[in-house]
Amino acid sequence: MVSIRSRSSWGARSPRSRSTTSWSSRREVTLHYSYGPESQTPRQIQAHHMDGNGWSDVGYNFLVDSEGVAYEGRGWTVVGAHAAPRNTQGIGVCYIGRDGMTDAAKRTVIALYDEACERAGRALARRGHRDINSTSCPGSGNYSWWKSSNFRDVAGNGAHEPPKPGTSAPRYPLKAGHWFGPESADARNHSGYWSADRPHIRRIRDRLRERGWSVATGDRYDTELAGVVRAFQAEKGLAADGLVGSATWPVLWTAPIT
Ligand SMILES: [Zn+2]
Repeated sequence: MVSIRSRSSWGARSPRSRSTTSWSSRREVTLHYSYGPESQTPRQIQAHHMDGNGWSDVGYNFLVDSEGVAYEGRGWTVVGAHAAPRNTQGIGVCYIGRDGMTDAAKRTVIALYDEACERAGRALARRGHRDINSTSCPGSGNYSWWKSSNFRDVAGNGAHEPPKPGTSAPRYPLKAGHWFGPESADARNHSGYWSADRPHIRRIRDRLRERGWSVATGDRYDTELAGVVRAFQAEKGLAADGLVGSATWPVLWTAPIT
């Protein structure tokens, strides 16, 4: 079961009206992109749809951000407003961002698709918005990934089997003697205060999650993350300082997953 942030958890406004359909009417999962920055929030998209377009609610059934977090839009069986005239047949899933979905987002879209097929009791078609309307949505790269028979081949796909330990770790992104850790006055410490460090911290969090640790998404190195890193280090026989430096970084990828 894919974990989905409920409407109340992201502060959704109530719909002005809604109409439902049934699983027997569902035929396809339709991929979209928001064509906005990855930092766009479901609330902003909902406001645009309700106040700008005058719709009754956010148009999509689900939204997925670049970190792979799924948000409930209209949900599984409410008719959306995303790809007329196929909103009854199609479950609209919107990637919050542009062309070039992250692997984390792809994995979540696959998980939503699998759950939709399971609930429908049969395989649903994979469609892109451009299959239905004259639009570039969901972007050429996103579209060709979604339509490809290899769409499940996403790096680190942990949806159905535990990820294999990587054969090689990505290059350590910091200078020698620097590390990732919670905010500190030490100039060698990288907490995500500087935006250049944030993708790396997001990567540490993603990799820990792939390894089965319970870690929130995000791009800052907080004390909660330090606690998980400390436990990981202890398990792997590393110095358990809660910091990710050049010794801990590669082990996140190369150590066997236990
Ligand atoms: Zn679209």
